[in-house]
Amino acid sequence: MEGFEFKVSETNKREVKKEWDLIIIGAGPGGLSSALYASRALLDVLVIEKNLLPGGQIGTTSLVEDYPGIESISGEDLGKAMMEHAKKYGAVFLMGEEVVGVDLENKVVNTNKSSYKAKAIIIATGAKERHLNVKGEKELKGRGVSYCAVCDAPFFKDKEVIVVGGGNSALDESLYISKFAKKVIIVHRRDKFRGDKILQERVFSNPKIEIMWNTEVREIIGKDKVEKVRLINNKTGEEFEKPIDGIFIYIGMIPNSELFNVDKDERGYIITNDRMETNIEGVYAVGDVRKSPVKQAVTAAAEGAIAALVAEKYIEEIKEKQKNH
Ligand code: NAP
Repeated sequence: MEGFEFKVSETNKREVKKEWDLIIIGAGPGGLSSALYASRALLDVLVIEKNLLPGGQIGTTSLVEDYPGIESISGEDLGKAMMEHAKKYGAVFLMGEEVVGVDLENKVVNTNKSSYKAKAIIIATGAKERHLNVKGEKELKGRGVSYCAVCDAPFFKDKEVIVVGGGNSALDESLYISKFAKKVIIVHRRDKFRGDKILQERVFSNPKIEIMWNTEVREIIGKDKVEKVRLINNKTGEEFEKPIDGIFIYIGMIPNSELFNVDKDERGYIITNDRMETNIEGVYAVGDVRKSPVKQAVTAAAEGAIAALVAEKYIEEIKEKQKNH
C-alpha cells in the first residue's frame, strides 16, 4: 500500500478510562475485525495488544495473497489498515500493554500497567510458534535460528538455509526466503506437504528450493552462530550432518490460551459454539486461539465479526436491565 501512513496509537499517551462495554484482547485479524464491527455498532471498545504493531501473526507474514479483494499486500500493511479502519469508528487501542491476568466471570482484565473492566470480553490472542525442542535451538535463537522470515531473511543474502515444516507457513516463507538466499532446503518429516497445492507448485518449480523428504532435525550445531544441523532420515534411520547458515522453523502453532479459564480442547484451543461464545457468558473467542478446522486471516476476521455482533446483543441486554433497575 504505497503512501500508507501509520502512527503507533497515541492512545497510550492519554489517560485511558477504566470501564468499557467490550474489551478485546489481541490485535490480530480476529481482534481487529471484532473492534471494527463492535465500534460500528456504537459500542465502547478497548483493544489491548502486547505488541506495538497490530496484525498478530499476519503482521510478520511477508505477502498476503488470499485476502478477498486484495490481490497482494504485505501482512504488516494489512494489519495496520485493519487497525486504522477500527480506529476510524472509535475503537481505542492500547498497544504494548500486556494482559497478565483475567477474571472472566467478573470481566476484569489486568495488564502489566493497569486494570480494566468490561461488560463482555473477546479473546483474540492467537497462537505462537511451536518449537522443535532440539539441542541448539534455544541457544542459537537469533543467531541463525529464526521463526520469522520477514524479520530475518534479508540477513541470509546469498547464503544457504533450511526451512523446517510442510504446512502453508513453511511453503510461503520458503518462497519468500528464496528471494534472498542462494539455496533453501525444506526439511519435512513426511513425503507430502500439507500446504495448499498452489504453494506446493510454486515451491516445486522454484530452482532455488530443494526438498528433503522424510527428514527430521536432531540437533542444531554452532559456536556463536548456526554452522550445521544433524539430520535423520526417518525411513532409513541414516543420521548425517549438513553445513548450513541458518534455519527457519515453521512447524505449526500453540494457542495463547493459558490465561483463560474456559473450556479448551486437549491442545489448549478454546472451545466455542458457532456464535463464538465460550462456556462463560459474555466471553467470546475468535481466530487462531479458538478450536476450528481452518486458520486463516479471513476466517479469523469473520469470526471476529460474529463475536462482535453477538456481544453487541448481550451488552445491550445488560444495559437494558441496568436501565430498568
Ligand atoms: P500447520 O499447517 O500445522 O503445519 C505444520 C507443519 O509442521 C506440518 O507440515 C507438520 O508436519 C510439521 N510439524 C509439526 N510438528 C513438527 C515437528 N515437531 N517436527 C517437524 N515437523 C513438524 O502449521 P502452519 O504452516 O504454521 O499453518 C498454521 C495455520 O495457518 C494453517 O491452518 C495454515 O493453513 C494457516 N496459514 C495459511 C497461509 C496461507 O494460506 N497463505 C499461510 C500461513 C499459514 P505434518 O504435515 O507431518 O503434520
